[in-house]
Amino acid sequence: MRYVSTRGGVEPLSFGDAVMMGLAEDGGLLIPESVPDVREEMPSWRELDYPDLALRVMRRFATDVPQDELEALIGRTYGERFGGPVAPTVEVGPLHLVELWHGPTLAFKDVALQLLGNLFEHLLALRGEELNVLGATSGDTGSAAIAGCRNRAGIRIFILHPHGGVSPVQRLQMTTVLDENVHNIAIEGSFDDCQSIVKELASDLQFKKLYSLGAVNSINWARVMAQIVYYFKAVFDVQAHTGAQAVEVAVPTGNFGNVLAGWYAMRMGLPIERLLLATNENDILARFFTSGRYERGSVTRTLAPAMDIQAPSNFERYLYYRVGCDPERVRRLMRTLETEGAFALENAEGGPVDPDIAAGAGATEDCLAAIRRYHREHDYLLDPHTAVGVAVAERLRSGHRPTICLATAHPAKFPEAVAQAVGRDIARHPAIEALKGKPTRCEVLPNDKEAVRRFIVRAVG
Ligand SMILES: *Cc1c(COP(=O)(O)O)cnc(C)c1O
Repeated sequence: MRYVSTRGGVEPLSFGDAVMMGLAEDGGLLIPESVPDVREEMPSWRELDYPDLALRVMRRFATDVPQDELEALIGRTYGERFGGPVAPTVEVGPLHLVELWHGPTLAFKDVALQLLGNLFEHLLALRGEELNVLGATSGDTGSAAIAGCRNRAGIRIFILHPHGGVSPVQRLQMTTVLDENVHNIAIEGSFDDCQSIVKELASDLQFKKLYSLGAVNSINWARVMAQIVYYFKAVFDVQAHTGAQAVEVAVPTGNFGNVLAGWYAMRMGLPIERLLLATNENDILARFFTSGRYERGSVTRTLAPAMDIQAPSNFERYLYYRVGCDPERVRRLMRTLETEGAFALENAEGGPVDPDIAAGAGATEDCLAAIRRYHREHDYLLDPHTAVGVAVAERLRSGHRPTICLATAHPAKFPEAVAQAVGRDIARHPAIEALKGKPTRCEVLPNDKEAVRRFIVRAVG
């Protein structure tokens, strides 16, 4: 399988080169040259355990990683770091919830970032290279990135977060990681300050090259690939449980990475009737899929911070297919977005923008109400992101098919939101309790990119 850019400006790449490149060099996103049709093979996949299923899916995409290497990588990822099942499905009320938070940081991002860390380690050893991952976090994604890179040969990771601006749980999940290759940096500034420092340092091409700076953000193809696997697992489980043929899948959405993986699974032949895309008040995607107009808004802070996004970075991959795989049109639309802040796709006869994707926005009160109701009626605690997914799933589901909803975080990551919903502080998880009182390491730096640069230079040596 070769990889090409949504903007058409990159010579076809191998899987390994696509993973190392991350963002395409022409500013687009890398995608597989074709989407494999697995319908013939699929019946033999139903009984497989998660690592075996992952191997079957990933070997269609990672064709230049030798099969035994890929198998070992997947075994290391989903055997050791996930102490149990990777994506178990539980029936709660009218929904089938797929708990994707059984990884080390209790969020679905572990499923992809644990694999990406192992993949980087493998590719770097092969190439005799090193990588210094630099990223900014408002709290939520940093811990999963750190957990994916800690103790991996050839990788150092530098994660900037706003000093005093992340929740106690988020801070503990990052700063209690004491591995030598992990550098937590608390910036005396806001998340936006952190992000602009990262952007400026990464756009200094000489510095970037000399210090092998890279990113692990959600535009890396390997993350999408890793996420495709659990759609297969979930659909097989629900088919076996209900006897139904096809299902609908609701997805709490921010950067469009998770739902995009479901869209690829559909294209590969998995019988998903519709994806139900759920946003919070940051509803650029809900607006697009109901009106055809893609228009940036300003970001509203909500109880589901990982969904507080108005420029979903993975959307361009979907757009590429939506405009008939025409890189010239993608370039034009992205240029229009840049200059005018919006574009619109024509919508044949006023029908749905995409019959495969229904979308809706869940407001903060819907989120709180879902947490409260599922706690009271089903004795099940939702985290605020999953709660947005549940609220939208209940509104949009057709009712004549099983509805799956992806559960993207454990509620103990967001105890304040849960307490606000149910009136008591009850969201606990032993992995988080165990962090309290542990030694931490974190460097506090001024809001100054030169201070961060000096810190990196010293750490790399
Ligand atoms: C990142 C994240 C999301 C959003 O996923 P995308 O792939 O960015 O759409 C939803 N819920 C949680 C808990 C997350 O961490």
